[in-house]
Amino acid sequence: MSYRGFTYPLKPAPAQESVMAQTAGVCRLVWNLALEQRRDHWRRYRAVTGSTLNFVAQCRELTALRKEVEFVNAVSQNAAIYALRSLDRAYLQALKGEAGFPGFRKRGVHESFTFYGREVRVEKINARWAQVKLPKIGWVRARMHRAVVGDIAEATVSRTAKGWQVSLLCKTGPAVTDVGGAVGIDRGVAIPLMLSDGTSFALPARVSKIGEQIRKAQHHSSRGLRGSKRNALAKRRVATLRALQARVRKHWAHETTTSITRQYGTVVIESLSTKIMTKSAAGSIEEPGVNVAQKRGLNRVILNVGWRQIETMLSYKAYRLIKVDARYTSQTCSACGTVDKRSRKNQASFVCTACGYRGNADLNAAVNILRRGSAPVVEAGTSQSLKRKPAGRKAGDPDPGQVDASRNTKGRNQKPQEPRP
Ligand SMILES: [Zn+2]
Repeated sequence: MSYRGFTYPLKPAPAQESVMAQTAGVCRLVWNLALEQRRDHWRRYRAVTGSTLNFVAQCRELTALRKEVEFVNAVSQNAAIYALRSLDRAYLQALKGEAGFPGFRKRGVHESFTFYGREVRVEKINARWAQVKLPKIGWVRARMHRAVVGDIAEATVSRTAKGWQVSLLCKTGPAVTDVGGAVGIDRGVAIPLMLSDGTSFALPARVSKIGEQIRKAQHHSSRGLRGSKRNALAKRRVATLRALQARVRKHWAHETTTSITRQYGTVVIESLSTKIMTKSAAGSIEEPGVNVAQKRGLNRVILNVGWRQIETMLSYKAYRLIKVDARYTSQTCSACGTVDKRSRKNQASFVCTACGYRGNADLNAAVNILRRGSAPVVEAGTSQSLKRKPAGRKAGDPDPGQVDASRNTKGRNQKPQEPRP
């Protein structure tokens, strides 16, 4: 089954807006209370009640809370239950060592809540407008530039710098078909995305232009009195520009990944996590031969391209996504297989010290990545790489973007990737 997301700006009436803010507040409160309970009181809970503090137990607690507290009772119960379920998932993932432990949600940052698809209805009004029916909120007008495809599995309402929006996660039918062929992708420095067939993709110039505007706006917001009207305005401008930049980047990522997956059924990428790469710039060195200053530059590029986003898109658009260990792909000769860091002359060019092969460094790496995907070297973490990736997120899964933002920032249970020499 494949899934697709559709996001629409909402235009709620003032009364609806206050219910939405209240629902977000209650869900945040429920999350924070449940987190605190799990973190600090689980032992006492077990001693007093005799049962383990899990999702089911916390749902019972929620029912009790709703009976006692009027404003919790006033909003959708399922939205609050969804918060408990996401917390439960976050805990399970953290205990398995796949992610850091979840943190508290903050007002003004975590302003969202989720309904089940069956609770939500969408009706088109005209070419541009539709209305969305949300539990306890009612029919809310939404700007609908493109129609929903498939059955709604989940609806997340969130507040952004631009106002409220709804994201509908929809089941769009059977899995992707295999178009055949295979391609390796390298995330380079000189070229953000390089395919093993020589095609390269660069970010649209607009992204860095907006980046320039953001820096200017930040400069303005750093001047002036804290808490002043002008300061607030400047901050708002920064937030709006950031949201715009994210949309431009996302659009580009969609175009790029669609173009790649239309041509190739199998896509091979590096399994290096962006998180680890961005961390190591502080002092440790990821790969011999890459110094920290270069690394910092590399990080900027990687963060700028939004590799994680591209990876997520590829995971549901490609028929098969293979992740390989990327160590030494930039130092290995794609012609003779010799590994030598001296072959990597600089960021852009590769000249093999053994056979004399010359080529673009990113292309050379992309070819190596493709080769590793076709005949995978089984190393730690890559043994599962040949299994078919699920065609998309499952209905209940939390949004990967949100998960990253809320869960992985601290990385408390993350060990340094490499021992210091
Ligand atoms: Zn060579």
